[in-house]
Amino acid sequence: LGASDPDDMSTSGGADQLYAVFLEDISEQRNFERMRRDFVTNVSHELKTPAGAISLLAETVSDAADDPDAVRYFSGRISKESARLTELVQKLIALQKVQDDDGLSAVDSKPVDVLRVVREALDENKVQADAANIELRMYVGDDTVGVITTDGVADDAPTPSEGAAKVVVNGDADSIKTAVKNLVENAIHYSPKGTHVGVSVKQDDDDVRIRVIDQGIGIPAEAQSRIFERFYRVDPARSRATGGTGLGLSITKHIVQEAGGTISVWSRPGEGSTFTIRLPKAERSNTSKNQS
Ligand code: ADP
Repeated sequence: LGASDPDDMSTSGGADQLYAVFLEDISEQRNFERMRRDFVTNVSHELKTPAGAISLLAETVSDAADDPDAVRYFSGRISKESARLTELVQKLIALQKVQDDDGLSAVDSKPVDVLRVVREALDENKVQADAANIELRMYVGDDTVGVITTDGVADDAPTPSEGAAKVVVNGDADSIKTAVKNLVENAIHYSPKGTHVGVSVKQDDDDVRIRVIDQGIGIPAEAQSRIFERFYRVDPARSRATGGTGLGLSITKHIVQEAGGTISVWSRPGEGSTFTIRLPKAERSNTSKNQS
């Protein structure tokens, strides 16, 4: 750059400016490289842990072949560790997908029926909630519209054709369901037995707000800004024991941003956590047009 004729630069804003842009590019590229390397290191570590455990446990099983109780116990642990490996790989694929989709939202974006998506997300977490003796509740506007029971969503949950105005955002229905499911899964994971988890949906003129509220262990203030980072866990040991990967919230955040929204958290240790997703409302639905 320095050796060229300075007069040539005068029309394009000057050499200094070009040089600054060039340096910015390099540092951006370096940051990206570092992030990529960290990511590969994290993935390798996360995969190595269960893989190593499986191999050790398999050896132990074969040593304990004469003891049926021990065989049962170690086989159970092998299943658990393989389930963990599978979950990790599935989450990595999901993360890859949302990252690849970055910027494609305009192409794939369709009107999404939020109440339906939330109901399906709750339904799909029901078995897990029942196992943890946690009651799932759904609220629309200011009303409790359904307690999600072992028989499915209560009959009084509104369908979009009923009373409540249709709640519509633009995006990909499956992805938004994944985002809500991840939050509900976490709410169940990090809550004691006998508590309840609520999902509320509310809309104002511009936004749709989906809230997932739990009465669980909560998140310390200093960790709240970090939980959306890939692989970050407040308590890795606990998270691992309950099947966590540290990827769920980062996937959720990507999905929400892809749909033009934001996600935030409120939490107090020992009291519980509330995650709030805000998504821009789709251009006025028919219902709201009729109402105005
Ligand atoms: P994980 O698979 O470990 O749950 P996430 O990315 O979904 O990973 O969450 C990151 C971390 O944030 C968790 O390991 C946990 O420490 C914390 N966390 C997330 N949701 C909650 C919640 N509802 N209550 C308490 N802690 C939570």
